[in-house]
Amino acid sequence: MLSWLYPDTCELCGERSDTTLCPTCREGLARVPRPLCLHCGTPTWGKAHEAQCCEACESLPAGGFDFARSALLRDENNMSLIYALKYRRANHLARALAPLLAEQWKQTPELRAHDDWVLVPVPVERGRLFRRGYNQAEELALALRRILGFRVWQPLHRLPTAYASQTRLSARARMINARKAYTLKRSVERRPDSVSPHLLLIDDVYTTGATVSACAAVLRRLNGVSCIGVLTLLRAVRG
Ligand SMILES: [Zn+2]
Ligand SMILES: [Zn+2]
Repeated sequence: MLSWLYPDTCELCGERSDTTLCPTCREGLARVPRPLCLHCGTPTWGKAHEAQCCEACESLPAGGFDFARSALLRDENNMSLIYALKYRRANHLARALAPLLAEQWKQTPELRAHDDWVLVPVPVERGRLFRRGYNQAEELALALRRILGFRVWQPLHRLPTAYASQTRLSARARMINARKAYTLKRSVERRPDSVSPHLLLIDDVYTTGATVSACAAVLRRLNGVSCIGVLTLLRAVRG
């Protein structure tokens, strides 16, 4: 009776499992390989050392996030999980995937450096939220809160926009579009104090960094912010 709430098969292999992802499948998911660009979190592919800045960083506008990290690489398996999380009302998947964000958190010295992070999910447009019934970034943040114990705060607002999905746009067009799409909620704008100096943006996918960079630029307007990190489940990379 409760099988839709507590699925008894693994989302990926379809085998019987008490969890949404069986331990074998979860272990087998492709992680983002190291070394990384320490700013944007893109793998440096073959270079032996971590970099402070990379080619991918160069397209990011100034005044965005301090650093970004992602748990998984984009491949067919991982995309199917994101698709399920986004479009098939599979928000129970967020709980199965949040341990991967926690794993990445533990591997990131910049994140371990503070214990007062506040998780800020990237907002979705109200119409989309209504149709989908949930915001996948918020689901991930809430699931991560259960593991790490940080607070979730939602000061951002996604403006209703006329333009179509970002998917087909060039990196530059995405940056320009994204900058127009996010703002502070009116209640926050009236009293623009941050609840913590350390804010961690949470989203499902990092593609060009346009979305999280735009959100970070808005969060910078808050009083008392000293560091803005980004943690996403998936990383789209070339190579
Ligand atoms: Zn499985
Ligand atoms: Zn970079």
